[in-house]
Amino acid sequence: MHLPLYENRPVNRFSIKAQEALGDTFRSGRITTLQINVGKVCNQACKHCHVDAGPNRTEAMDEATAERCLGLLERHRFPVFDITGGAPELNPYFRRMVTRARGLGVHVLVRHNLTVMFERGQEDLPEFFAAHDVEVVSSLPHYTSAGTDRQRGGGVFEESIAAMKRLNALGYGTGRRDRVFHLMHNPLGAFLPGSQKDLERDYRRELARYGVTFDGLFALTNMPIRRFRDWLEKAGQLDDYQAKLEAAFNPAAVAPLMCRSTVSVSYDGKLYDCDFNQMLDLTVADAPSALEDFDLEALERRRIVTDNHCFGCTAGAGSSCGGQTA
Ligand code: SF4
Ligand code: SF4
Repeated sequence: MHLPLYENRPVNRFSIKAQEALGDTFRSGRITTLQINVGKVCNQACKHCHVDAGPNRTEAMDEATAERCLGLLERHRFPVFDITGGAPELNPYFRRMVTRARGLGVHVLVRHNLTVMFERGQEDLPEFFAAHDVEVVSSLPHYTSAGTDRQRGGGVFEESIAAMKRLNALGYGTGRRDRVFHLMHNPLGAFLPGSQKDLERDYRRELARYGVTFDGLFALTNMPIRRFRDWLEKAGQLDDYQAKLEAAFNPAAVAPLMCRSTVSVSYDGKLYDCDFNQMLDLTVADAPSALEDFDLEALERRRIVTDNHCFGCTAGAGSSCGGQTA
């Protein structure tokens, strides 16, 4: 069994800051979310994608790994099953996993890019989500067509509006507890997001012009990894952006970080602290990193593996899969 040792990883600026903020080692507590990334296949190829996903990628979770994830849910009954990708709906085992998880009474959250429901064979996705009370979280970088299309590609805003109308028609984004629909905003350049509250107000006002509603908005910071990092490097802004994140470090954002209550599984069955560490291939420390050796007790005591990208999660009001935290 391969047991990665935390001691082998270099101390970094973030780990020192996090420890100071907590007055304790930066480690996991009780795991309440099993997050899985089912692969890199996506119908879009967004400029800031931290997964490097796109239509030409082929990496996808296979049936045996999907079954292992379901086995973990059966055994441990984590309250939340968070499914991401790529476009997770394009994975052949996606619907099986949602159906079985819901059958166990587990809350299922899907990171859904909106436009995938217009792909062949996906036309009934909104009805599938509704039939299983799936919580839907969708990225819409901006409430203007120009802002969203600049980051996600031409025509994406218009399709996203059409998709949101379909979700609204089924009761999503209308305040129903069994039809939760959240949007995610991320900045269009090398700067921090504005106040989540103000952005949510602006999104509500502007999307109302299209007759579209949603339950809440999460404001996320762009992480300096993968495509966004490449973009920063090309623009000569990487050092400035990293400095900006570090200068905006907010100690109050450390305690609620999602990596402290999540385990993230990759399409090929490895365990990580979060989806960002997954993209950097920083597997968990202090516990086996292979899915088949899943050790809940060790994972709930593990030290979180960090590096300087983690400053993206603690800048300003904080940024996590659930938006600003502090
Ligand atoms: S929709 Fe999401 S996963 Fe797909 S390319 Fe865009 S950011 Fe990446
Ligand atoms: S990047 Fe991951 S490990 Fe680092 S602080 Fe953010 S959620 Fe935690």
